[in-house]
Amino acid sequence: MAEKTLNDLFYDTLKDIYYAERQILKALPKMARAAQAPKLKAAFEKHLEETQGHVERLQQVFEAIGKRAQGKTCEAIQGIIAEGEEIMEDFKGTPTLDAGLISAAQAVEHYEITRYGTLKAWAQRLGYTEAVTLLDATLREESKTDDALTKLAETAVNAAAQKKVA
Ligand code: FE
Ligand code: FE
Repeated sequence: MAEKTLNDLFYDTLKDIYYAERQILKALPKMARAAQAPKLKAAFEKHLEETQGHVERLQQVFEAIGKRAQGKTCEAIQGIIAEGEEIMEDFKGTPTLDAGLISAAQAVEHYEITRYGTLKAWAQRLGYTEAVTLLDATLREESKTDDALTKLAETAVNAAAQKKVA
C-alpha cells in the first residue's frame, strides 16, 4: 500500500465537511421552524441559503483538485446535530428553546470553522490556490454567522430564556 500523504488527508477531510454541510442543509430548516424569535428564525434562514453556497463551493474545490465530489460519514456532525434535536424536543414550548437552538447552532458553526481553517491551511501548503480562495470565502461566512449568533444571544435571547411563562 502506498504511503498516505497530506494530499490524501486533504481529500478525506474535504469529504468529511462535504458530508457535514449536506447534513446541516437538512437540519437548518428544522431549526428555523423551531425558532421563536423572528430575528433568530431569519438568521437560520439566511444561513440556510449560505449553506447551499457552501455545498456548491465544495463541489468547486473537488473540481479544482481534479477529484470526484464525494461525502464521507462524519460522526462528529451527526452527534452535534443529534444534540440539537434533543434540545428541540426537551425545550419545546419553553422560553428557553431559542437559547438552546443558538447553543446547538454555534456548536455546528465551530465544527465548520475548525474544518475550513484546517482545509485552508492545507490547501495553501499544497499549492491549491483556487481551493484556498473558495475555502476562505466559506470560512468567513461561518465566522460571521457565529458572531451574529453570539450577538443575538447576548442582546436578546438569553434574557428572554430566563423569563417565566405567565
Ligand atoms: Fe457551512
Ligand atoms: Fe455554517
